[in-house]
Amino acid sequence: MSNDNTKPTKEQKHQTRQQRLKEKVDERIANATDEKGLLIVITGNGKGKSTSGFGTVARAVGHGLKASVVQFIKGTWECGERNLLEQHDVDFFVMGTGFTWETQNKDKDTAAAQAAWLDAKKLLQDEQVDVVLLDEITYMVTYGYIELEDVISALNNRPSGQHVIITGRACHRQLIELADTVSEVQPIKHAFDNGIKAQAGIDW
Ligand code: ATP
Ligand code: MG
Repeated sequence: MSNDNTKPTKEQKHQTRQQRLKEKVDERIANATDEKGLLIVITGNGKGKSTSGFGTVARAVGHGLKASVVQFIKGTWECGERNLLEQHDVDFFVMGTGFTWETQNKDKDTAAAQAAWLDAKKLLQDEQVDVVLLDEITYMVTYGYIELEDVISALNNRPSGQHVIITGRACHRQLIELADTVSEVQPIKHAFDNGIKAQAGIDW
């Protein structure tokens, strides 16, 4: 095989490409200088929204930040994240009896949602709280149990450095517009569809 020294080798081409990429990434990193409390939305029909929210809470706690969680759907199961994170000074506010997927009493559900929202609003006014996870709050807005305007106003008036994570399917368009970072988890496959039941440590 002839060896033409003037032609860049595959390795050299790769290196040039990577160098260009690095320059672009470095430039973007240099330009990202602002710091502020973020509103993050994790929505969509795939699995991974609440786990993402709790993962961020764990990350924050690992950096010594104060985090609190409001769970807007009272599951019938205990919650592994709660068992762990409560040992690390994360406060949990869980929607009281009244609302699960099973209930069909709108007045009772509304009262339960409103009570949880009151807990959330207090956190959104608390300078000491660095991170607030509002798990499954999207449904409360969709079902009309809490007012969208009230949620938007509480988010807009929260302490400027406070991060908020919203999870749940079908997030309202206006919350998506307000957010700094939005991810949609798409379902490709789910074990449940193949008859595999929800399992402790993985699904709750
Ligand atoms: P996770 O808590 O595992 O991150 P999630 O918050 O994205 O899930 P939710 O809509 O809150 O999803 O549903 C909670 C429960 O339903 C979890 O146990 C989860 O494993 C399960 N689940 C999530 N997505 C699906 C799906 N596409 N099909 C069936 N079950 C699902
Ligand atoms: Mg969830």
